[in-house]
Amino acid sequence: MKAYDIVVVGASVAGTAFAMALRDEGLRILVVDPQVDFDESRMTWGHDIEPNGLLALDWLGLLDDIKRLGVRHERWIAEREGGGRLSEWRYDELRHTHAYAVCVRAHLLRRRLRERLSGVDVVIPGAFQGYRRVEGGVHVDIEVEGERRTASAKLLVGADGPRSRVRAQAGIGARVRRYSHSWVDTIMSRDDDTLTEGHIYFGRGSYLGVVPTRPGELVAFELTAGPHRVGGIERFREDYVRRAPILAGSVDSVESWDQVTVAPGFRMRAERWVADHVALLGDAALTVNPITSQGVSLALEDALTLAVVTGQAFRRGDFTARALRPYELWRRPQAERIQELGDLSLWGFTRRSRVLSALKERTLRHLAADRDFRTYVMASYCGLHWLTPKPLTILNAVRRPHPV
Ligand SMILES: Cc1cc2nc3c(=O)[nH]c(=O)nc-3n(C[C@H](O)[C@H](O)[C@H](O)COP(=O)(O)OP(=O)(O)OC[C@H]3O[C@@H](n4cnc5c(N)ncnc54)[C@H](O)[C@@H]3O)c2cc1C
Repeated sequence: MKAYDIVVVGASVAGTAFAMALRDEGLRILVVDPQVDFDESRMTWGHDIEPNGLLALDWLGLLDDIKRLGVRHERWIAEREGGGRLSEWRYDELRHTHAYAVCVRAHLLRRRLRERLSGVDVVIPGAFQGYRRVEGGVHVDIEVEGERRTASAKLLVGADGPRSRVRAQAGIGARVRRYSHSWVDTIMSRDDDTLTEGHIYFGRGSYLGVVPTRPGELVAFELTAGPHRVGGIERFREDYVRRAPILAGSVDSVESWDQVTVAPGFRMRAERWVADHVALLGDAALTVNPITSQGVSLALEDALTLAVVTGQAFRRGDFTARALRPYELWRRPQAERIQELGDLSLWGFTRRSRVLSALKERTLRHLAADRDFRTYVMASYCGLHWLTPKPLTILNAVRRPHPV
């Protein structure tokens, strides 16, 4: 049995970022993941990384790399379905060192994070099977190419996504809420001169966004309640161009459903993020609706915060739930607030009622006129909760408390 200080389960966003944050601390770290590579043809979505996530990437020394892989954009333009500008949100109106967003293809982000993971042991493919508490730590079972291996560790970190096996093994319950709408991402080609910013088209109960992912490529995303393939690709293309005219030169590049990912909508909250000798990270602790564009950024912030708390745990030699709790106390309020924002956005953007649609348009036009309100909304979606006096709720959207 090999002895480690930390075993990290999951080498996607949260797990790699956490291991990277600690790699110079002289700790023996093992990272395991059964997924050998991230397949471009299957991962047809992009990650829009917001200022809070960009700051975390910068801290890890990865920002320039990720900027090279993706496309930086400075603003979102909100339009009526079929065209007609409602408002515009510029990141540079935020008081933040990284006042922009970067959209990057999902497989490229994960591959690069793995490539930059040095100074730790990595077992890929390696699947976490279970763990046992022993004196002073845990014994972790990992399956490697059909063989079972065991590693000892003082801390086990579950960064293994929403269906976390580490969470289940630790006996930590999770509350899951299924959404009425799925999230749909489609990769298309783009004319680089026409599309340089993010666009969101709002209709009665519908929402369709477009953002560049790399030169010559964009991702279109929407929420859908129904089966997506009715009427075939031709109908899908017509529908998208009718709603988002900017896609006129792009939709013909959608030739098969392989370019379209439909992700079932749900949110998940782990009842606790820590147990004795165990901590949960990223989507294993809390999963948000992709409409918030915050999953990656939250995972990165979780990773950095847990790294700080872990450093202290090793200095004190204390890995009890109590010693790890500050991590949860620091991270959970922001993550839950963003989860609520996802619920509100889903509700507000998908109701078909005429009254609500009119209210939505009115609010979007108000955004154009009221800079403080704009900052409040932007800061809420960018995870900068210290810039917003209160969570963004319907009541607060009407009252519009000013940002601090
Ligand atoms: C279609 C779609 C679009 C999205 N768009 C955005 C966006 O625009 N912006 C944004 O910020 N977020 C977005 N998200 C959310 C984002 O992808 C997640 O929040 C983020 O990936 C969370 O990272 P993670 O490392 O916690 O978990 P994951 O990325 O889910 O990684 C979990 C890892 O654990 C591994 N694993 C699982 N089981 C085991 C096991 N038994 N042993 C070892 N390893 C295991 C998996 O192989 C995987 O590599 C989107 C998600 C989807 C599905």
